[in-house]
Amino acid sequence: MMKGHIFMRRFSLGCLIALLMVSIPVLAEAPIHITADLTEAPRKLWHAEITLPVQPGPLTLTAAKWIPGTHMSSGPIDDITGIVFRANGKTLSWRRDDVDLYAFHVMVPEGVSTLDVHVDAIVTSRVSDKLAMLEWEKVLVYPAETPVRNIEIQPSIKVPEGWGVGTALTPTGTEGSTTHFAPVSLEMLEDSPILTGKYFKEIPLAPDVTPKHYLDVAGDAAEDINLRPQFLAALNNLVHEASAMYSSHHYNSYHFLLTLSDYAGGEGLEHHQSSDNGVDENGFADDQHALIEADLLCHEFTHSWNGKYRRPAGLATPDYATPMKGELLWVYEGMTQYLGNVLAARSGFRTPEQYREALAFSAAQLDNRPGRIWRNTEDTAIAASILRGDNPAWSNWRRGQDYYQEGELLWLDVDTTIRQLTHNKKSLHDFLVLFVGKGGNTGPMVVPYTFDDLVMLLNQVVPNDWANFLHERITSLSPHADLAGIEHGGYKLVYTDKPTSYERALLSRRGGYDGWFSAGLRVGRDGSIVDVRVNSAADQAKLFPGERIIAVNGRVFSPESFGDALKETKGSSAPVHVVVQSDTYVYSLDIEYHDGEKYPRLERVEGTPALLDDIIKPMTNVQPIPTEKKS
Ligand SMILES: [Zn+2]
Repeated sequence: MMKGHIFMRRFSLGCLIALLMVSIPVLAEAPIHITADLTEAPRKLWHAEITLPVQPGPLTLTAAKWIPGTHMSSGPIDDITGIVFRANGKTLSWRRDDVDLYAFHVMVPEGVSTLDVHVDAIVTSRVSDKLAMLEWEKVLVYPAETPVRNIEIQPSIKVPEGWGVGTALTPTGTEGSTTHFAPVSLEMLEDSPILTGKYFKEIPLAPDVTPKHYLDVAGDAAEDINLRPQFLAALNNLVHEASAMYSSHHYNSYHFLLTLSDYAGGEGLEHHQSSDNGVDENGFADDQHALIEADLLCHEFTHSWNGKYRRPAGLATPDYATPMKGELLWVYEGMTQYLGNVLAARSGFRTPEQYREALAFSAAQLDNRPGRIWRNTEDTAIAASILRGDNPAWSNWRRGQDYYQEGELLWLDVDTTIRQLTHNKKSLHDFLVLFVGKGGNTGPMVVPYTFDDLVMLLNQVVPNDWANFLHERITSLSPHADLAGIEHGGYKLVYTDKPTSYERALLSRRGGYDGWFSAGLRVGRDGSIVDVRVNSAADQAKLFPGERIIAVNGRVFSPESFGDALKETKGSSAPVHVVVQSDTYVYSLDIEYHDGEKYPRLERVEGTPALLDDIIKPMTNVQPIPTEKKS
């Protein structure tokens, strides 16, 4: 919003914090009450009873549309069903708004001061037979056209008997399987999901750190929630490392909410005082799974500072009807991607070598991203809400949410540049102290920022032409990625014929064969082509996503036979001969590729300062990570 822009330019950060703090107190009106009934959660049918203070006359209630953290209008209005409005025991008629389908119009009769709303919700995500994550937008309607910060609401939740409850909300009492919580603003309610589960436990973390941190975990089976000691050691380290890195907290307590389920779906959604993290049942149960998921909790935790407390002005909207503007997501998500991975290494979720392997894979992906020649990184951020689909076909040409990984390389470049300009006396940490630590410790609140604010703070750390530095990296059209941070870090991106342990872990989860960096295609277990890299040998052979390779060099397709065929191309002039099925037709064709298998990794450039190694050194006395397998 324009007003927000002018507001930000005129006032210093200190002023802004003071102004925002005075705007937080909620209306003096009686609060709305909501009781979410999850007793039928496993049946995917949730219910809520909402009681609102009202006045006679026309009233518009709305469901949430733009959900913070999802960067899109993802509010599940299509799943809100069975809605009934009642006053003084009588059912009122309602009409949906013709244009805004999230809005319900009702006429409140004379003499009525309380409106009762019943909501049913069909919920098929973040729920399994034994656990559920209550995200309030699934069951909530509230007065439209009122800043959500100014709506006070008193929440309760009813869960299946014996299920545990974990949340950043403050419990005030229980009645049977219903838990009541202290009133909060609607903004904080939407920001405070509740994890409930039959197999549930809450584990206090880092007892020496204030405010308090907890892991609330639920799984599909009793044994799932016995997390490995190496996971718990790394998570305790993470609390210490993040406290040191960000020099502040902006929550009263923090809850890592974690589901371990093959049915409840993957998730990573940030909140001020908690995060919603979802992995497979075995997501942290063995080394290979844990390697893939290593940065999840680090990333979502970092968002409490970068994304929730400091938020791009275009994403700091007053309600969930106002469209969000994603232009600075390369900071919100990109810097978080960088910091989350750095914290994963500092805390021991990944070894230094695994950190470099993951970074190499990410950098190589971007360095082989043909869509970079027509769509710049800033556009992937502006268009974020239409890039959240997961169809991989030709996604290297369309580009996806590349602002995450592009942002990671960009902020690595910023970090190493600060270190170089200051002869290693300063780093991105000095910027973070100003950016997320300014204002000291606070409760949950939003302090918006603009591009110009970032430039100003970077210049406070070390004078440089930061405006051009950032602008060029987010707007340039180049077939190649910005690898300067890796190079300043004392490493270079190379390709060898052996996949790293990180890439092997990725492949074992996905199955199939990864010929992306060699012939230019990814294939599934059954030979289905997932994607073809534009301008690669596979592209020149006219292969395309959705076709299925059924034979290679005279052998029936398997990931092994295809891998053997690519291996044999090294130094050979013979093409790879494939038979492909497209719909009901079969063709044979040749891939003119002659350079063997290729997998990315980072190689040390001897004689240069190893800044990348310095960056992932812990700032605190971290606990060593135990190596035994299972507790
Ligand atoms: Zn994120």
